[in-house]
Amino acid sequence: IEQTAYQNDKLAMLGKIAAAIAHEIRNPLTSIRGFIQLLRPHLMQLGKEEYARIILTEIDRANEIIHEFLNSSKPTAPMKQRVSVASLMKEVVLLSESEALMKGCLLNFEGSEERLEVSIDVKQVKQVMLNILRNALDAISERGSEQKEQQGRIDLIVHQEHKSAVITIKDNGKGMDRNTMTRLFDPFFTTKADGTGLGLSVSYRIIKNHGGFIKLNSEIGEGTEFNIYLPSLP
Ligand code: ADP
Repeated sequence: IEQTAYQNDKLAMLGKIAAAIAHEIRNPLTSIRGFIQLLRPHLMQLGKEEYARIILTEIDRANEIIHEFLNSSKPTAPMKQRVSVASLMKEVVLLSESEALMKGCLLNFEGSEERLEVSIDVKQVKQVMLNILRNALDAISERGSEQKEQQGRIDLIVHQEHKSAVITIKDNGKGMDRNTMTRLFDPFFTTKADGTGLGLSVSYRIIKNHGGFIKLNSEIGEGTEFNIYLPSLP
């Protein structure tokens, strides 16, 4: 599936608008936070300190969402370093293991090609792998009852193909229809009630900025396979 130039322009513009709005929302949140803290002793006297705690927690959550959003929409130049793809994969698996465990899902990584190396912005590419892995976990949770009889499973594979390092993330989740397959890289396209639809559009751009591309295969009721291609180092 090819991302068109138009979609990229749209994404860049939306990113700029979003960043500006997020920035403007942060300032009032900071002052609200300050005033709530000033009110705290008074609320305590009224026996309502719990309210202050809830307000502060919620403000912090809003701030965190904005922070994440700013991070994902800002098109930063990659800060490249040489790393082994397998070691990168191991870190991503480590980061996701508890989430997978909670969902009763098996993460299966067979690290072989230890010497396969790429020159990448580690933070950005890790983010891409985590985005795809989270989607895989969601797709496993969203399976129908019949499919759920099978153990949820995500296979992670690293291999070399010509001059590319290929990172495969394959799930036995619910899969997706044609319409979703053609639109999933569009900014704000989501089929989830609490989704942002940003994960894959940002991922696509990051991989493209690295001179790579993403391919996918999916079958309803069977699962989905994402392949991230990155130029490999000799
Ligand atoms: P979000 O996760 O917030 O919805 P994404 O851009 O990450 O945003 O994904 C867009 C959509 O692509 C998802 O809402 C889902 O419909 C579809 N999708 C992505 N990965 C998978 C997957 N592994 N299995 C099934 N559907 C997927």
